[in-house]
Amino acid sequence: MGALGENGSDRLWTAELFGELLESAPEGVIVVDATGQIILVNAETERLFGYGRQELVGQPVELLVPLRSRKQHRRRTTGYLVDPHPRSSTTGLELFGLRKDGTEFPAEILLSPFGPDQGDRLTYCAVRDISDRKRAEDNASRLASLVESSDDAIVGETLDGVVVSWNVGAEQLYGYSAEEMLGKSASMLTLLGEDDNLAAVLARVRTGKRVANLEAVGARKNGKHVRVALTISPVRDGQGQMVGISSIARDMSAVVRDREHLRYLADHDELTGALNRRRFMRDLNEQLERARRYSETAVVMLIDIDHFKQINDRYGHPVGDRALKTVATALAQRLRRTDTVARIGGDEFGVLLPYDDPEQGAEVAADLRRVVSELRFDPGTGRRLHLEISVGTALLDRYTESDEEVLAAADKDMYQDKFRSRSAGGVVRDLTTSRRVRGTKVRPPVRTSPSTA
Ligand code: GH3
Ligand code: MG
Repeated sequence: MGALGENGSDRLWTAELFGELLESAPEGVIVVDATGQIILVNAETERLFGYGRQELVGQPVELLVPLRSRKQHRRRTTGYLVDPHPRSSTTGLELFGLRKDGTEFPAEILLSPFGPDQGDRLTYCAVRDISDRKRAEDNASRLASLVESSDDAIVGETLDGVVVSWNVGAEQLYGYSAEEMLGKSASMLTLLGEDDNLAAVLARVRTGKRVANLEAVGARKNGKHVRVALTISPVRDGQGQMVGISSIARDMSAVVRDREHLRYLADHDELTGALNRRRFMRDLNEQLERARRYSETAVVMLIDIDHFKQINDRYGHPVGDRALKTVATALAQRLRRTDTVARIGGDEFGVLLPYDDPEQGAEVAADLRRVVSELRFDPGTGRRLHLEISVGTALLDRYTESDEEVLAAADKDMYQDKFRSRSAGGVVRDLTTSRRVRGTKVRPPVRTSPSTA
């Protein structure tokens, strides 16, 4: 194979030309003899290993192999000499080259025998530094394990929205396995609000924009919905060309639940589920505003459980809590949806009856007293307690000056009511034995005297 053509138009392949070819080869070339000695290297080998060629020629090739791999290298070389055919390291072990300065580089090595069949067989070794490729592979595998270990659903899609990758997070969030989703359209996973048309969002992403933390609803395999924060980004190749879409969905159920609970707590009493004092005062002031503007009337009520402390003292605080819930539920059941029932203190409730007049107010008050007195509260002993409340009412109309004024009037009325029931000998009655449960001393009514009751 001395020449490819000798008709004058092709170049003559001289030894000199082959030498030049070897020197300009992009990989390190090392020729080793049957004893393992280096007999020839090219410029790239000098560059890769940091030796001058005169330092390498005549040396055992193991000089270029890290100490820890030399034994293995020897074993492989022996095997190679027994069966000398071209082989590449890429199918074998990870190999490293040892530089003159002691540093190493990951290498890909191709071996090819040549020369006489008998005796002095030579081996052609091509060495390539694969640091860049290894680094890219390491990065890719690090990224892949990040994606795999993420709790977020990370889904790779083509530009048309066909699923091409599906992590464990996606499996957990949506309930579909990777086998079920690969090749399917990702649009089946997401329901967006009416304003956020998915097609419009995807069109935005396709123009190269990233859409972050979009509130959306994910559709689970089991038919249930899950609130998610969706971040959709374009995926680009090494040349910056857009090749796909990545969509990251974070399960927001817990966040949404917490947010809703906080919103609930802002307005509600956690123990009884009734509205809280803050909300009661807000409603009361809105009612005052309506009274001024439109001359609307309303009845304001203050309710206090009689002898409630005795329940706490006799049966313990948790039973007292249960009694509070029982009373709150009974009040709410009797009132209209438009009425406000709030727990505004320990055993004190505030009620607002829009549009009512004093006569209706008195009727509702009597009814509430009856409803509560008909409750049969079991403190857990099998006995039944008879609960009673005192109710005070006041009219809220356009002449009402302030919330304080109307509350003070209702409070006064409530204590008059309490005094009435005290005069009638009211205490918490144990219905099973008809015994009176005596705990704390009955407190005399405040702010009002018996003559005004
Ligand atoms: P009165 O007939 O005069 O209303 O007497 P009372 O025993 O009901 O006394 P009062 O209304 O002054 O006291 C209410 C008690 O409610 C005092 C407090 O220990 C108790 N209390 C306040 N908040 C809670 C609560 O969240 N749970 C329980 N179990 N008890 C509470
Ligand atoms: Mg009380």
